[in-house]
Amino acid sequence: METDATAAPEPTGTEDHGWRHDAACLSEDPELFFPEGESDRYQPQVSAALEVCGSCAVAEDCLRYALEADQRTGIWGGTTAQMRHDLELVGGRVRTIGAPTSAEVAVHSVAS
Ligand code: SF4
Repeated sequence: METDATAAPEPTGTEDHGWRHDAACLSEDPELFFPEGESDRYQPQVSAALEVCGSCAVAEDCLRYALEADQRTGIWGGTTAQMRHDLELVGGRVRTIGAPTSAEVAVHSVAS
């Protein structure tokens, strides 16, 4: 059965989530994006979900939403919960935790 919902749960709040209409997972089973774990046993499911995300035009928006909403389960924006653990949003941009911001890099470049 085809559904008009994305794999991701309906976001709450007043933010613009229009990007969901262009999601590559619109016609996928939402269950695919919520494996029960990330161990070897679930890797085929995780890989299949990540493959869909890999062709998604709104993966960046999806990942940003997941980080903003602190989504701790599921595949979002081409990342697993474990992958997102190492990411954070700084000024609306996704970066690895502990990595210098572009402003910090710029200051360092001017200083050296
Ligand atoms: S990045 Fe993945 S989970 Fe997010 S909207 Fe696209 S296909 Fe769906």
